[in-house]
Amino acid sequence: MNQVQIPSSPIDCPNLIGGEWTKGSGKEVSVYSPYSGDVVGKFNCPNQNEIDQALKAAKEAFAKWKATPLKERTGIMFRLREILLRDIETFAQTISLESGKTLAESRAGMMKGIEVLEFALSIQNLDQGAKMEVSRGVHCEFRREPLGPILSITPFNFPAMVPMWTLPIAITVGNAYVWKPSDKTPLTATLMGKAFIEAGLPSGVLTIINGEKDEVNSLIDHQDIKAIAFVGSSKIAKLVYERAAINGKRALALGGAKNHIILLPDADPEMCGVGIADSFTGCAGQRCMAASVLLAVGEVDKQIEQIKQRALSTTCGDKMGAIITKEQLAFLNESIDEAISAGAKIILDGREAKKPADYANGYWIGPTIIDHVKADSKAAKNELFGPILSIVRCENLTEALKIENANDYGNAASVFTNNGALAEKVAKEANAAMIGINIGVPVPREPFSFAGMNTSKFGHGEITGEQSLNFWSNLKKVTTKWEMQNDHNWMS
Ligand code: NAD
Repeated sequence: MNQVQIPSSPIDCPNLIGGEWTKGSGKEVSVYSPYSGDVVGKFNCPNQNEIDQALKAAKEAFAKWKATPLKERTGIMFRLREILLRDIETFAQTISLESGKTLAESRAGMMKGIEVLEFALSIQNLDQGAKMEVSRGVHCEFRREPLGPILSITPFNFPAMVPMWTLPIAITVGNAYVWKPSDKTPLTATLMGKAFIEAGLPSGVLTIINGEKDEVNSLIDHQDIKAIAFVGSSKIAKLVYERAAINGKRALALGGAKNHIILLPDADPEMCGVGIADSFTGCAGQRCMAASVLLAVGEVDKQIEQIKQRALSTTCGDKMGAIITKEQLAFLNESIDEAISAGAKIILDGREAKKPADYANGYWIGPTIIDHVKADSKAAKNELFGPILSIVRCENLTEALKIENANDYGNAASVFTNNGALAEKVAKEANAAMIGINIGVPVPREPFSFAGMNTSKFGHGEITGEQSLNFWSNLKKVTTKWEMQNDHNWMS
């Protein structure tokens, strides 16, 4: 199956509450496919009573799950891995259908999610805690304890991968996981819920609440939610973080991005062509690690020509996916017009790209490159979230770094060069948390953790890897003495 299949009628996406799939009693929300513009799914938001029921079930499930030994919890995750690998094509179809990705991108997202799951499988071996005799006859030990029901709010652009950053780790550590998927991608969440149930996860350990702003707010405020992870735009990340803080809850909220690539004249043109074009066109530019500003230092026209040629061959439908909504597509078109009015020069116009014949009503725009963009213009500063590369011409590396440093976000920054010293200077001085050297999408592979800085992250810590364990748990310190000791010291 190499094509995204449009279902003949919308697929129902119920909530998962206490192990039962239940339709909400609130507002009905439609889910559109970016491929065809058709309604391909629907869900009903739960009312407050249903949210309370869900949390009651999650709290009860948590008490038993917490008491289940880590090795038994991990056993379920091993089975989950097999199921996800077995069903990867079904997942890829569903992810593409509702998020607009190509099937290859959807499979890749699943594999990255499974990589995080594999990290979770290793917690049993890497996190034995610590115990030490700190005074004669006195022992101190660390014990990791889960928090309770926790909440995760996820975005549309990686319907499986972003949830898989937190699902396996938070659940393996012993929490009950309450998931509010993007209102645009509930179909993948339903599939994922079914996979966890088939793997043997006890009822109530995973809850799925479909919904929008009101459901998010009600969940954050709920007394039984003990921690909140959010991934999405910076505007909502900040709102979620602030609301969690007012409630006195720990929160980690990852936001949007505007990622810069610094291109130096000695960079390998072929590596630039592939690395930079694939970065801004991958997932149709709808990823928080996509390149969106190219800081072109000095004479780099031959590299830019390679980027353009590679982008030209990235055709809509087979090599590049669609834009999530027609409103977002309209916003991208307006942003291109605005950049041109502000004096920039379009060298590749995605608005003229050929639409795939089988999905003529979908939300398509081809790769777009705008040159001579001013550093203080919207195209250079705002997150556009589409396959648009804004080129800002710079006299030297100092000017390029100054522009990069001045941006509000802080997810990724890359440099393309053959000069190790200059690459190191960028790694040290760039104002971003994930750095690429001749890499267009510098996503750290496991076990290296993921998270940005500045307005790309509100809160403290990392969302994956070893650093995430402390977010999903409390460290209890137990100090023990069993016998009277005669040789007292200053502490006894
Ligand atoms: P979004 O902020 O619109 O939505 C994210 C989640 O918040 C969804 O579940 C949505 O239903 C919910 N939501 C929307 N409005 C809300 C409100 N007013 N109050 C409470 N909850 C609300 O983001 P999106 O459009 O789904 O995803 C794209 C954005 O996510 C981009 O900005 C992208 O850069 C960012 N993103 C960041 C990362 C990262 O790791 N930093 C990863 C993926 C995506």
